[in-house]
Amino acid sequence: MNDQSDFRVTLLGTGGPRPRPDRFGPSTLIEAGKQKLLIDAGRGATIRLYELGVSLGTIDALLLTHYHSDHTIGIPDLWLTGWLGSQYARRTKPFRVIGPTGANELMSGLQMAYALDVKIRTDDEQLPPQGIAVIVEEFKDEGIVFQAGNFRVIGFEVDHGDAIKPAYGYRIEYGGRAVAISGDTRYNENVVKYGAGADLLIHEVAIVRPELASEPYIQRILAHHTAPREAGTIFERARPKLAAFTHLVFLASEQIPPASLDDLIAETRQTYGGPLEVGEDLMSFEIGETVNVRRTRSKAM
Ligand SMILES: [Zn+2]
Ligand SMILES: [Zn+2]
Repeated sequence: MNDQSDFRVTLLGTGGPRPRPDRFGPSTLIEAGKQKLLIDAGRGATIRLYELGVSLGTIDALLLTHYHSDHTIGIPDLWLTGWLGSQYARRTKPFRVIGPTGANELMSGLQMAYALDVKIRTDDEQLPPQGIAVIVEEFKDEGIVFQAGNFRVIGFEVDHGDAIKPAYGYRIEYGGRAVAISGDTRYNENVVKYGAGADLLIHEVAIVRPELASEPYIQRILAHHTAPREAGTIFERARPKLAAFTHLVFLASEQIPPASLDDLIAETRQTYGGPLEVGEDLMSFEIGETVNVRRTRSKAM
C-alpha cells in the first residue's frame, strides 16, 4: 500500500471466455487495510497476482459472482498453487470461498477432483493440511456477505438472463468509501441502487458492430450483457466519482471485426458525460479523497 490510500482495487483480468493473452478472465483484487479479497477467479488470476507481487496465500477470501466457467476456472489454480511452499504462495489458513448457492457444489467437486494431488503433497512435501482446507460460505439473499471491522461487502442480485441464476454484484465499503462491481448482468436497476454515490463503479459491457447485431447467436449473447449506452445510463444515474469498464466482451465473426475501444467510448458517451475509464489488466484504482488510476508495473518475484 502506498501512503495515499489503503483502499485499492486492481483489475486482474478484464476479458471474458475468449483466451486472449492481453485480457485474462474476470478477476478483481480488493485491498482494504490488511485485508485482501478476490472477486471471481478467471483464467490467469494467479499470473496477475504474481505480476503484482501479491502472494497467492495472502488472499483472505474469494467472492464469486456467478458460476459461468470464465469466472471460476482459475479457482483450482489459486487454491492448489497458493498452498505450495514457495514465497509466492504459502497459504497456511483455509481457503475461504463466499458465493451464492452453488459454491459448495463447486468446491466439493474440486476437492474430489484434486484429492490425489492433495494427498501426495501432504505426504511428500509436508504442506500444512489447514492451508488446503476449504471453508465455503453460501448465501441465498442480498445482504452483507463479508465483514471485518469497517470493511464490509454487500451482495446484490443482478440479471444475467433467466437461465443464469444465481447472479450477483458486490458493493464494497471501507472507511466511508465505496466501490461497486456489477458482476455479469444486463441493464439492471440494482446496479444503480447499490452503485449510487460510489467512489468507483465497475461495470461489465458487451459491444458488437451494427452489421453483426441482428445475428441470432449474437442476439443471445447480447441479451445476457449490458450495451455501452445502457451502461452509460447506469453511470449517469448512479453518479460514481469514477466509472470503469471490465469484462469487455467484443463480439465478432469471421467477416466482421470486433468494435474498437473508440467505438465503446463513443457509444457510452451517448448517455454518460462523467469520468470514465476502460479497464485493462493490472489497472488499479486508489480510492482516497479522489480516485487515482494507475497502470501497475509488474514486479514479479
Ligand atoms: Zn462472464
Ligand atoms: Zn457470465
